[in-house]
Amino acid sequence: MIANTAAQPQAKKRLFIGLLAGSLLTVGGVAGLLWYLLSQPTTVLQQILLVVLIGFILIAMVAVAFGIGGIVLTIWLAKTISPLQPLMRTAMSVLFPMAIGLGKIFKIDTNNIKRSFIEVNNQLVRTRELKVKPWQLLVLAPHCLQKSSCPHKITSNISNCKRCGDCPVDQLLAIRDKMGVNVGLATGGTLARKYVKEYRPKAIVAIACERDLASGIQDSTPIPVLGVLNERPFGPCFNTQISVYRLEEAIRYFI
Ligand code: SF4
Repeated sequence: MIANTAAQPQAKKRLFIGLLAGSLLTVGGVAGLLWYLLSQPTTVLQQILLVVLIGFILIAMVAVAFGIGGIVLTIWLAKTISPLQPLMRTAMSVLFPMAIGLGKIFKIDTNNIKRSFIEVNNQLVRTRELKVKPWQLLVLAPHCLQKSSCPHKITSNISNCKRCGDCPVDQLLAIRDKMGVNVGLATGGTLARKYVKEYRPKAIVAIACERDLASGIQDSTPIPVLGVLNERPFGPCFNTQISVYRLEEAIRYFI
């Protein structure tokens, strides 16, 4: 059954933003170290290479710093800053692996960082106040919502579900019929990308665990994605659940 609660593991947005800023400082530190190590070039070619390299790193750092500034301002003002959107997306995707690496060094739980990333992403998407037609919205759900003992093959066609009510797929279909949105059940990134290609959505509501949501949000750029974490009372990837309240709330935001 789908839980009817709004409860969701919360993560502070400032965790991910702080790690982004930390990553940027690390890049700055590496650039400074490079400068120091190569500051005694012996040939003209070395001098040119050094200037080009440091110039490139500095330009990239300024762009990413504007992106991080844009994220902070957007969340603070609760208002989208359109000209900074590309830089914000670049900062999030370029520094994401570094933020995860930095978190590991400081022994911060990776799922916590990904939850924080999802929170930041959702907040940025919400500030855009984007509205689409129901048929332009795709709800992407993970295959692990299906009851493990169910014999029906629903990944190729979710309508093969017999609506017995033993797992959340029944409720997903009820939401699809009630709200007129598209629903795709994916076993992984390849099938999720196939649904995106097939439905060409203008917005996506994705249900998944921290790992799949974090990568799915980045893969789908520039399509806005609202992420809804699934619930895993029996452990990962097995008979998972979702909150119908949070799912409907995310869908209603777009339509
Ligand atoms: S609701 Fe559908 S997918 Fe879930 S157990 Fe019943 S028939 Fe299978």
